[in-house]
Amino acid sequence: MIDLHTHSTASDGSSTPAELVEQAKAAGLSAVALTDHDTVAGNAEAMEAGKQLGIEVIPGCELSVASPDGAGWLHIVGLWVPENPEDLQTAFDWLHDGRRTRNHEILDKLKSQGINITYEDVKQFAKGTVGRPHIARAMLHQGVVGSMDEAFRVWLGDHGRCYVPKRKLDPADALRLLREAGATSILAHPFTLGLKGEKLDALLAELKEMGLQGMEVHYTEHSEGDTKRFLQAAEHHELLVSGGSDFHGMAKPKTRIAVGKGGLHVPDELLETMKQSRREQGLWVTEAPVHEEALSAAQ
Ligand code: AMP
Ligand code: ZN
Ligand code: FE
Ligand code: FE
Repeated sequence: MIDLHTHSTASDGSSTPAELVEQAKAAGLSAVALTDHDTVAGNAEAMEAGKQLGIEVIPGCELSVASPDGAGWLHIVGLWVPENPEDLQTAFDWLHDGRRTRNHEILDKLKSQGINITYEDVKQFAKGTVGRPHIARAMLHQGVVGSMDEAFRVWLGDHGRCYVPKRKLDPADALRLLREAGATSILAHPFTLGLKGEKLDALLAELKEMGLQGMEVHYTEHSEGDTKRFLQAAEHHELLVSGGSDFHGMAKPKTRIAVGKGGLHVPDELLETMKQSRREQGLWVTEAPVHEEALSAAQ
């Protein structure tokens, strides 16, 4: 089993990159990708932990992107993102600037509703990319809400009272930056698009034209029907098939690494297919660690 979508304390997960890799190993995964929001800051630590523990770690990220019509948003996961992705780093910085302004706007809105949370309160819960989950944790800590879910449902979520949209990259720019960095681009959790049939096909054709290489067919919120139709769509548009839990640790306690909410199973073969595609493009790949038992058996 593999898991190609996870978050650490480098963004809004609760496990450090090294802890996350330990959890992946304990869950029996053969490979895990770290895909923190708008950053690669946790990747070096995760890869080092992977070496120590004997589990393949794929360095990744998850980008906040506008939908091509500009009306909505997409998340694009990048896999095999290099350690110092120069132009991509400029994009991360731009997104982080936008997040800072947005976080202050959210706090101002909360204040106008009589809820006093300072940026310093929020920062206590964040080590890397600061987002709504950290504001939610500060609210929970101060007893303003009873749960993270309530913080999102009533206040911070897309339909919440203090919602502020996030700065997003243009999709063509995002896909170009990932391609130029030599990363493999994956459309994350496609169910969030709320599209079916021709509309889904039109969007996928447009993104593919911009350079999209794969789609997350296996995702914990996908019903069996979703998985089937996204698999068909991936085949139709010649997109690589990916999958992951979107693990966030205690920030999303119902979603576990590897298995998501219980039923997720992302097969190893998908990783091999992606790596084969990368080799054919002359791109680098991570290698599965050589097991000591296998070594001694060969001697
Ligand atoms: P942001 O990137 O600041 O817009 O925050 C979005 C993140 O909030 C998502 O990636 C999720 O990790 C998290 N999130 C969204 N809804 C919830 C929820 N109901 N409970 C906990 N975390 C959530
Ligand atoms: Zn997140
Ligand atoms: Fe996402
Ligand atoms: Fe995610």
